[in-house]
Amino acid sequence: MNAYSSEAELDRAGDQVEPTIPVLRPRLPSAERLLPYLRRIDATRVYTTWGPLALELEERLCRRFSLPPGGVVSASSGTSALTAAILTAAGRAAGGRRLAIVPALTFVATAAAAESCGYTLRIADVDPETWQLDPERVAARADLDEAAIVLPVAPFGRPVPQAAWLEFRERTGVPVVIDGAATFEAASGQPERILGELPVAMSFHATKAFATGEGGCVASTETGVVDQIGRALNFGFSGSRDSATPSLNGKLSEYHAAVGLAQLEEWNAKQEATARVLDLYRESFDRLGLADRLVCGPEVASLYVLFRATTQHEANGVAASLAEDGISYRLWYGEGLQRHTQYVGCSSDPLPVTEELAPRLLGLPFAVDLDEQAVERIGAAVAYGLRRR
Ligand SMILES: *Cc1c(COP(=O)(O)O)cnc(C)c1O
Repeated sequence: MNAYSSEAELDRAGDQVEPTIPVLRPRLPSAERLLPYLRRIDATRVYTTWGPLALELEERLCRRFSLPPGGVVSASSGTSALTAAILTAAGRAAGGRRLAIVPALTFVATAAAAESCGYTLRIADVDPETWQLDPERVAARADLDEAAIVLPVAPFGRPVPQAAWLEFRERTGVPVVIDGAATFEAASGQPERILGELPVAMSFHATKAFATGEGGCVASTETGVVDQIGRALNFGFSGSRDSATPSLNGKLSEYHAAVGLAQLEEWNAKQEATARVLDLYRESFDRLGLADRLVCGPEVASLYVLFRATTQHEANGVAASLAEDGISYRLWYGEGLQRHTQYVGCSSDPLPVTEELAPRLLGLPFAVDLDEQAVERIGAAVAYGLRRR
């Protein structure tokens, strides 16, 4: 069940010994690919704080996202990118507005970033169709006058539409920062829909499709805002050593930028390999008559291959069958934010959609080199789990 395990373990449960399939086995650029970039670091002796490699990565991302120069700032992680964007949009919590409205269906980083800026969380439910906060419902909240910031999340990389949230900000005056951690692929494909005035924070964690190990960025058409976010990522410094804004240290090192640049070089090949694996999944689930239960790219980010169980009972059956066959799976967001020990006591709305949905979305294995045999084995285990119940 460990996404980071690269060792194939052996399943000795049955008479046949088949290797365990890890839920996610990332593959980042090889040492050979990194070497030319590492030599550039040796030559410049610049290791961080927007050295040449980080600047080149930002420039390339701007072009990829059809943003003007200065529309992307790199960060040390998705969480630091989100934190700096919150600090820039809303500052630290102060006065009467102390609430950050966050969806229950998200990775804990959304909540951790808001808390680190001093905000009190208010956990809201998601829409059953989009799996996201609904701007209309948030605009109608009775506690909106206490809200300092709203953090819509792109769940599993399903993109958050800019236009609706921009309209929300204009109508309510409440700042909005989008946690688009897993939207690199969507933003590459449809930048006009996903990027715009509202800052979008992305993650380049090893488990995301575009990965630098640890890393992230914020993207927006408002280059002045992006510049301020860069300042918040660097102790509030801009052009001098005077700390002038709320801040953190959230800069991307040159070593991580090197991984990003090397990955952009091989990005087309990575995408082709990804498409092949997703085709195998679609074909396999199609043959099993389960095509409508599979949620995978491009609807969500490519690393999320989700089996959508119709009931909790069904999810339990499939989970048990996968486990018996040595196939790792994961509830990527657990059972929702409200179920994590740290957030159990948080003020929250009733969460019927998240409570019902989160435990039914089983994350199946993904790797760019997952082979046909493995995908068939996964499909068979899912089908067996359904039949048995
Ligand atoms: C991955 C992720 C993050 C955190 O990104 P890090 O780079 O690990 O800090 C935040 N929010 C969501 C929804 C994520 O999936």
